[in-house]
Amino acid sequence: MTVCNSCRYCEGLCAVFPAMEMRRSFSDGDLNYLANLCHSCGACYTDCQFSPPHEFNVNVPQTLAIARNESYAAYAWPRVFSGAFARNGLVISLVAALSVAAFIFGFAAFNDRQVLYGVHSGPGAFYQLMPHNAMAVLFSTALLYAIAALVMGVRAFWRDIGEPVGMKTDAKSLLQAFRDAGELRYLDGGGVGCFNEDDRPTDRRKIYHHLTFYGFGLCFAATCVATLYHYLLAREAPYAWWDLPVVLGTLGGIGLLIGPLGLLAEKSKRDPVLVDATRKGMDTAFIVMLFLTGLTGIALLLWRETSAMGPLLALHLGVVFALFITMPYGKFVHGIYRFVALVRYARERQMTRHG
Ligand code: SF4
Ligand code: SF4
Repeated sequence: MTVCNSCRYCEGLCAVFPAMEMRRSFSDGDLNYLANLCHSCGACYTDCQFSPPHEFNVNVPQTLAIARNESYAAYAWPRVFSGAFARNGLVISLVAALSVAAFIFGFAAFNDRQVLYGVHSGPGAFYQLMPHNAMAVLFSTALLYAIAALVMGVRAFWRDIGEPVGMKTDAKSLLQAFRDAGELRYLDGGGVGCFNEDDRPTDRRKIYHHLTFYGFGLCFAATCVATLYHYLLAREAPYAWWDLPVVLGTLGGIGLLIGPLGLLAEKSKRDPVLVDATRKGMDTAFIVMLFLTGLTGIALLLWRETSAMGPLLALHLGVVFALFITMPYGKFVHGIYRFVALVRYARERQMTRHG
């Protein structure tokens, strides 16, 4: 950062360099802030005249990727789970998903095999396998835990990057951050796209990221609408194909099928020199879990009126539960910390503009 601060050649590429130029020295909090502001497009490595084999060995994308991954562990709550980031892998997520699925499956099979393999249709069909209240308690507990852990992590990050915890964020900065995050503005390599191993920038990472992000958002919206239907309108799932929760869930599920597959393909093509190779498992686990959420959700939609509904519902619930409980200790946090860094950046820009 000190070399970059003297050079400043890359200042037009993304938010990291203007934010860096506002500083003379760099505390751990500043570095974590800059690391989470970086979207890992790789442009500043390709453009840099001091990157290897130059003796300065400047590699901003990789350095910030390492710092970013270390920041996830540093802000994890409770601290005792911070090591989970290092170990977080596909195996842990899959074991968690299969364990919960097996529990639900086994519980239903123990109670009544007919319920598990029978054909159920009409309102309340899903709750033959597991009562709605049990499902609601299980999943809201997992989600509330994940939210509490994420809030505690963000609180520590917010304080560390120099913002008083109680400070109200001005609406203008918040709006700017929402816009920048929603567009993935800084994943465009300064306008040309993301860099892969062949040095030809493309927008593919951005497109797949959008599909994944908005797919996840639509699935979450589908769950919220279904909850409102259940409690406010006394309408029980499953719903018809044309009903809002199903339309939102189907579109979201398709996004979660295409987006994560594309991200995995792009990941395999990335130049290893741009990434933190030691934490590849963390990225892959989260992407695979999102893909499995989409896959099991769509499979459940397609075969919900057959005898496969029970096992598919158990599997889908297991995957979603595993996704929830691993969220605060995996790659999911990158979206939250990056958004917070964008809010901080928008605030800094506002303050600089107004003297
Ligand atoms: S990455 Fe290289 S070219 Fe870009 S500002 Fe830093 S030292 Fe300069
Ligand atoms: S990798 Fe891209 S987003 Fe990250 S600092 Fe370099 S230019 Fe900015």
